[in-house]
Amino acid sequence: MCEICRQIPCHPRCPNAPEPEPKYECSECGEGIYEGDRYFDGPDGYICEDCMENKSVEDVLGLFGEVLTTA
Ligand SMILES: [Zn+2]
Ligand SMILES: [Zn+2]
Repeated sequence: MCEICRQIPCHPRCPNAPEPEPKYECSECGEGIYEGDRYFDGPDGYICEDCMENKSVEDVLGLFGEVLTTA
């Protein structure tokens, strides 16, 4: 049994667990996007959920080539 997580096989978050193969790579932060992760399939590449959450409304609109209009 693993001494850290006490599971067989290791819990996925256990430091002893083998790294899963990322399915895609985030085009902004370079982090892997793994099976079960949510991501944005944008025109310039895949963007992980973390990066999307850090975006402002203007950033997100910019992904589609749109901007906010001033009234
Ligand atoms: Zn473990
Ligand atoms: Zn990212």
